[in-house]
Amino acid sequence: MKVTIKEEKCMGCGSCPSLVPDVFDFNDNGFAYAKVETVPTNLEEEVKEAIDMCPTGAIIEEKSE
Ligand code: SF4
Repeated sequence: MKVTIKEEKCMGCGSCPSLVPDVFDFNDNGFAYAKVETVPTNLEEEVKEAIDMCPTGAIIEEKSE
């Protein structure tokens, strides 16, 4: 699975970087971004949880073919 974060929707709540620090981090603007484009298989469940927890729906799962 692949993820991206729409920075304009992120409110910098800190949930996703604390849930999955190997995938999400904060950029210099204080918004979250995805450090990796393709999520390691062993972190997919955590990333799905982060998607569900994001209060603004900023984390987008991109369907990989
Ligand atoms: S959970 Fe959503 S609003 Fe919170 S830091 Fe991550 S992308 Fe931003």
